[in-house]
Amino acid sequence: AFLSAVQQREPTLRSFLWMDSEDVLRQAAAVDAKRRAGQPLGALAGVPVAIKDVLCTKGVRTTCASKILANFIPPYDAHVIERLKAADAILFGKTNMDEFAMGSSTENSAFQQTRNPWDSTRIPGGSSGGSAAAVAGCQTPLALGTDTGGSIRQPAALCGIVGLKPTYGRVSRYGLIAYASSLDQIGPFAHDVTDCALLLQVIAGHDARDSTSAPLPVPDYRAELENPVRPLRIGIPREFFDKGLDPEVESLVRQALREYEKLGATLIDVSLPHSPYALAAYYIVAPAEASSNLARYDGMHYGHRTSQKSDLIGTYAKSRGEGFGKEVQRRIMIGTYVLSSGYKDAYYRKALKVRRLIKQDYDHAFQECDVLMGPTSPTAAFRIGEKVNDPLAMYLSDVYTVGCNLAGLPGLSIPCGFTREGLPVGLQLIGPPFSEEKLLRIARMYE
Ligand code: GLN
Repeated sequence: AFLSAVQQREPTLRSFLWMDSEDVLRQAAAVDAKRRAGQPLGALAGVPVAIKDVLCTKGVRTTCASKILANFIPPYDAHVIERLKAADAILFGKTNMDEFAMGSSTENSAFQQTRNPWDSTRIPGGSSGGSAAAVAGCQTPLALGTDTGGSIRQPAALCGIVGLKPTYGRVSRYGLIAYASSLDQIGPFAHDVTDCALLLQVIAGHDARDSTSAPLPVPDYRAELENPVRPLRIGIPREFFDKGLDPEVESLVRQALREYEKLGATLIDVSLPHSPYALAAYYIVAPAEASSNLARYDGMHYGHRTSQKSDLIGTYAKSRGEGFGKEVQRRIMIGTYVLSSGYKDAYYRKALKVRRLIKQDYDHAFQECDVLMGPTSPTAAFRIGEKVNDPLAMYLSDVYTVGCNLAGLPGLSIPCGFTREGLPVGLQLIGPPFSEEKLLRIARMYE
């Protein structure tokens, strides 16, 4: 059924960079054979899961939607892929994304433009736009994305589905091609909170191959899912309802908050005083780390090498110039600039200090409340091409999501209604570190 949905909708949506229907059927047959043989089956037996093309899949091309990795075939699986295989899930294609996960609209893919299933003239959000569109377009029930500054939550909101960015360290990054290592996390996309919990259960947990992976037990995310959190104190950060917020998005989010009040929750006005600086700090820290992580693509070790004859340095420069798209080049330049001698104290070190203050704001807020709620993104899905020549306007779509990554916290986006034009809007829930179990329960109350 899902393969035929892919066949039908893919010409419009263009969610997938790679899909092999025969391989999918082979995997399904293998799971079925296991079932017939009476062997125990994993938690996702026979369930398709689409994979963002930033996650290494053994023997299957992994491109990060970049020309520089156009022919890269990893010799190993990412940790999350191993987990999916062990759970008998069906690996269901590799999804489109912004090149190296840099972007908010999936327009930075070197290969194709994914469209929003609710309105094909609009972007699906980004950078995990292919995964979000594939789930929202019913091409797959589940997908994996990655979130460095909002890339799971924002496309989930703009496509009207559930998307979770786990606590930093909850899911191993082994085999995730790094963008900004201190911010990146892998997480699930699903149609509802229960499915989201199911997929998180499979991918969460310690892995010694990622030194930042947390050696903590993984709770049973579904055990208490139907049990509402009472009493429930919801913090409403003042700064999340600022002048950049679209009035229609604001009214839908406020309506959702009133629903929670009807369910017995108390709404508390809180402040995250440093959040006006979050975006600026993020757009220093993330490019700084990216410029270092992307230094390995030199035309020698991996992927694209220029065909123009040159000396060593010339080969590096030409390969990188040909292989990386404009936005990636812009990030590398910003990153090397903020790390360069004479500037690193003024920019990079200062951004790290701001990051610490932002973390403290959240710690402070969680002394008064169980969860923070607000909009996921300041607007609904915008039109393809609308912001592509204005990087600063594009960066603004992450204004409510980047704080969570800077502070390492879990964040969840759930649908909370539609604009008059019929575009979905997301409600964002942010919790203290490792509170995924509670966040999912709180989200489930609203469904
Ligand atoms: N849009 C943000 C960026 O371009 C976040 C991307 C992400 O979370 N991967 O950096």
